[in-house]
Amino acid sequence: MTPHSPMQVGAIKTRVLILLIALIVCGVAGTVILSHFMKADRKPAAVTATQPAAPRADLPPGVQSAALTLETTHYVIVSNATPEQTALVARAVESLYDAYTTFFRNEIALAPRPPKLKLMLFKDQAEFKAHNTSQPWAEAFYRVPWSYAYYDAAAKNPYHWMLHEATHQLRNEVAHFPKVKWIDEGIATYFSTSRIRDGKLIPGDVDPDTYPIWHLRGLALTGDLQGDIRKGRIIPLHDLMADTGPPVGQNVNLYYIEYWSLTHFLLHYGDGRYASLFKRLAASGDATRDGLVGIEPMESLQLKWFEYLQQAASKNMEVFRVRARPS
Ligand SMILES: [Zn+2]
Repeated sequence: MTPHSPMQVGAIKTRVLILLIALIVCGVAGTVILSHFMKADRKPAAVTATQPAAPRADLPPGVQSAALTLETTHYVIVSNATPEQTALVARAVESLYDAYTTFFRNEIALAPRPPKLKLMLFKDQAEFKAHNTSQPWAEAFYRVPWSYAYYDAAAKNPYHWMLHEATHQLRNEVAHFPKVKWIDEGIATYFSTSRIRDGKLIPGDVDPDTYPIWHLRGLALTGDLQGDIRKGRIIPLHDLMADTGPPVGQNVNLYYIEYWSLTHFLLHYGDGRYASLFKRLAASGDATRDGLVGIEPMESLQLKWFEYLQQAASKNMEVFRVRARPS
């Protein structure tokens, strides 16, 4: 039979009959399947509405489940990253703990058996963003008693966001220093941008693959401090310290570059001539503009810092290499 051959009348009737039977069978089956799904849809909705999942005491607020929990000497890490990624972050925060408590050994009285510090490690940025209750631009945050961050598998330094928050956590829960914004952020960026070599964090040895260091090249400074202030390329130090500068939301990166560079400057400039005073000010919480007047007049301090920042911005990172010292 070719496609155009006329059909017999009997054959046509048979085909129509088969088609009708097929339509009836499909209709019945479709109704049964649809009613099944409708029932299935209704059932869990009712369960969810009447029995919300109870928050688990071992998880941070807002987190429903975790793939694993890893305990180290000083930390409890709840994680949705892989075991290997979690172990890497664990080693990084333990090296931070050692570096931080050694750095402030004259200012901190360590408790004999302190409770472990709590970290929540999300598996990636998307999972973190879905749980971010901090600023929309945040990549990590600390909310007592938890530090929240994610593992950035695409980054050369995948743990520095966690180091940043864990440094805030150390100030609050281990050092018990008063919170002064510029110095709290300055010290957090100072430690989180430091390299870890052979398992040891070396304070001030700058890793260029960290925030905010990777934004230094975008500063476009002219060398004229007052001109750069007028153009909004620099926030004056007295505004930075008093928190009276332009809105943070529109100037996040500039703020963090200045927090970091001022702290690095105060700890390393002139072979660390300001370092011990700065540490004492950090511990006392008097690291305000007035607290720093004891170092030298603000105007000359600002000029030296500006020069230091320009060196960093001109990519001459060699000036920020710090050798490991015996602790
Ligand atoms: Zn911070």
